[in-house]
Amino acid sequence: MTIKRIRFLQELLDFVGMGGRLHLAWISSAEAQKFVQVVTEFTQKIKDMGPSPLLALSHGRPGQGFEASQTTERSPGAGWLQETLEKPDERGDHSSMREQIRTWLHEGELDVFLGFKEIEGHPLPYLFSKASLEEVDALIIEAPRYPLETMVATMVNSQPGIKLGVQGDETTRKALNVLSVWNQVSPESVRVLDPADFTSEATGRGRSPESSEPGPVKLQLGLDSCMGIESVHAMDQDDRIKRWMYEFQKCIKCYGCRNVCPVCFCKECSLEHQDLISTGTVLTEVPIFHLVRAVHMAGRCIDCGMCEQACPANIPLRLLYRKVNAIVQELFDYENGVSSDQPPFSILGDKVVLEPKPIQ
Ligand code: SF4
Ligand code: SF4
Repeated sequence: MTIKRIRFLQELLDFVGMGGRLHLAWISSAEAQKFVQVVTEFTQKIKDMGPSPLLALSHGRPGQGFEASQTTERSPGAGWLQETLEKPDERGDHSSMREQIRTWLHEGELDVFLGFKEIEGHPLPYLFSKASLEEVDALIIEAPRYPLETMVATMVNSQPGIKLGVQGDETTRKALNVLSVWNQVSPESVRVLDPADFTSEATGRGRSPESSEPGPVKLQLGLDSCMGIESVHAMDQDDRIKRWMYEFQKCIKCYGCRNVCPVCFCKECSLEHQDLISTGTVLTEVPIFHLVRAVHMAGRCIDCGMCEQACPANIPLRLLYRKVNAIVQELFDYENGVSSDQPPFSILGDKVVLEPKPIQ
């Protein structure tokens, strides 16, 4: 297992352009000479590779001087979110779904249904219940931009036995499966209602929009999820790290990526753990902040894209986590949200307090 964990980290570091800088060797306490030899050889290897690419960060940002504000990072098609928010009339007819929810609430099949309602012009998560069945008429079908799944986990944990329905889709089912294998949700307590099952109309409101082509800035300096994992591998290490650092350094540490993630549930977040990331500074610790989160998403990320959608800095987080998922699948034959057994590892080790919350 240790070998696989280290391979995971080696491949992740290589993906961001820092390959070859992590080594594992088995040395017993009785093998002093071997210890000296391994350390000497690895130290020499690191020296031969030259200064850490991260040192460049203290001498100015990669891409500094490029007038990013005068051009666009992404293709015009990336305005999906704005576009859909401006077209509430295109939500389609979902009266049969509303009728089904009303029936289940009335007959006690469900105690509450977690869906969306427009409040003061904003589509917001809303709990519909038997106490006010008429409110179900106001239910709208909305592309999830909120972590409904973690809300579900909070509700079923605080009210054991509650019969809960939630608007969702295949991604929701995957997220709930992840929460289930991490002991956050009992699958039998949640019923997912997919709007697509109630209408022949294409809602066009899936949760995974992404730009179809990178804009000129991404092409020249950065990365975009639509470039794909293979395109990153095709770059040399220097190019890779420069591009990732260009992206990571835009981070404003708003924690939006974590807060919106439907499978982030730790009671103590690694992104605020002082042993992992220095806290209290405004700027993000680059690239540690992003690598810690990437590592922590191993065995969890269901590629919903919400983190990237929420990121105000246009960082291609999905590309990074897709690589994490690919490594996990290759090394452990584990598919997040599909495999029903426990994830094969808690990659950060035992000392950091990151255990999932028990169901109470
Ligand atoms: S893409 Fe992965 S990391 Fe990002 S919000 Fe979705 S599940 Fe979380
Ligand atoms: S959402 Fe983007 S800017 Fe905010 S913390 Fe995450 S990576 Fe950084």
